[in-house]
Amino acid sequence: MARMPDIRNIVILTGAGISAESGIDTFRGAGGLWENHRVEDVATPEAFARDPELVLRFYDMRREAIQAKHPNPAHVALARLDAEWRGGLLIVTQNVDDLHERAGAKRVLHMHGEHLNAWCTACDVRSQWRGPLIADSSGGRPPCPACGACALRPDVVWFGEMPYRLDEIYAALRRADLFVSIGTSGAVYPAAGFVRDARELGARTLELNLERSQGSAWFDESRLGPAGELVPAWVEEVLDARAA
Ligand SMILES: [Zn+2]
Repeated sequence: MARMPDIRNIVILTGAGISAESGIDTFRGAGGLWENHRVEDVATPEAFARDPELVLRFYDMRREAIQAKHPNPAHVALARLDAEWRGGLLIVTQNVDDLHERAGAKRVLHMHGEHLNAWCTACDVRSQWRGPLIADSSGGRPPCPACGACALRPDVVWFGEMPYRLDEIYAALRRADLFVSIGTSGAVYPAAGFVRDARELGARTLELNLERSQGSAWFDESRLGPAGELVPAWVEEVLDARAA
């Protein structure tokens, strides 16, 4: 990491670990239950087709919960890096909360969608959405602001669906001199493969994580600990090295 002058383009992948430190519970791979439903059973297209009200209530609850959470020092440090780093930078997040943006980061790509967006399956338009998608106790659904159809769903990538904007992500990985993975388990593909792709394309690779991830062997360097401590220290190091 000492040779920052060689580094111009950075790709950062963030995962559940960074949101967990803001109190957002993670459910991918956690084997979690929600009102006796396996989370996988409320986060698939099949579940939505079978029982849309159940799925929408689950996401209404999560949408409400994240709005009461706040960015932590890791989000704040990445926003600072985004503001001060003049080279290429892309923060690819697997998280569907808006904590990177609320910390002030601009160059953020949500590969698994966003809780605060609704997607109309009638007209394909995405709208910012903060309230519930079940409008009343009888299960009525609010109309799409663009076309009026009551066909809104969470704009979140479910199990079995294709992540968003992979072309942009791979284009950034091809340009990257440094790939940094923060708070990810390394268990969910395709994101888990980004480190190998970045490395094969010539980037240095760094992992900042609570524990070694499943792909740990692919990283040139692993630093273990809470993101709220590791990320601010790393950002400081990057910006200092650049200034030196
Ligand atoms: Zn619509």
